[in-house]
Amino acid sequence: MSARDAPIRVSEIFGPTIQGEGVLIGLPTVFVRTGGCDYRCSWCDTLHAVDSDYRDQWRPMSVEEIWQEVATLSGSKPLTVSLSGGNPAIQPLGPLIAYGHAQGYTFALETQGSVTKDWFADLDTLVLSPKPPSSGMETDWQAFDDCLRIAADRPQIALKIVVFDDRDYATRAMPLRVIRTCRSICSPATTPRHRPMTMTPGSISTASWSGCCGWSAR
Ligand code: SF4
Repeated sequence: MSARDAPIRVSEIFGPTIQGEGVLIGLPTVFVRTGGCDYRCSWCDTLHAVDSDYRDQWRPMSVEEIWQEVATLSGSKPLTVSLSGGNPAIQPLGPLIAYGHAQGYTFALETQGSVTKDWFADLDTLVLSPKPPSSGMETDWQAFDDCLRIAADRPQIALKIVVFDDRDYATRAMPLRVIRTCRSICSPATTPRHRPMTMTPGSISTASWSGCCGWSAR
């Protein structure tokens, strides 16, 4: 079976809608959410694309089948296709990206950086979102570095730092080399299970957060 023929496990395809966060905020986007993830974050809000209990709802789809839905939803007007999950990096998405590029579409992918694929270099935007301590997961920085190395200079690389609580804020374990490599963003978040952060303006060190709360050009 060629890479082109390998089925892609899809949880849902929806849009077009307006991207609501990150470097591509405001852009019309069709989302292709793949099924399956190698993580189990404590606060995951897309369990329907993660937990194997939902596996029978994930459709094994060909590139053509996915593209038919994307083209219908977008009215065949080229826009941004956001590949999310789950962890989309565990799916064979290279042929889909090549097919969509030939139609004039652009591609963004968001992943925690635990799995690297050669086709990351074909993306237009790669969003890397290492999970903080509140997730219960531990980042494999070697794998994360591999993602950066494979992407090299081709796609725009954005760093999404999720901060749920004081421990996440206090840890800030992001290696400086990563912050220097990416355009970066801080994404504060909360759930009823996490008490509000107690940051005050005086508690934020401009020096330590300048790479995390704003944009820093590569
Ligand atoms: S990496 Fe993302 S999709 Fe996977 S369990 Fe964590 S929050 Fe959910």
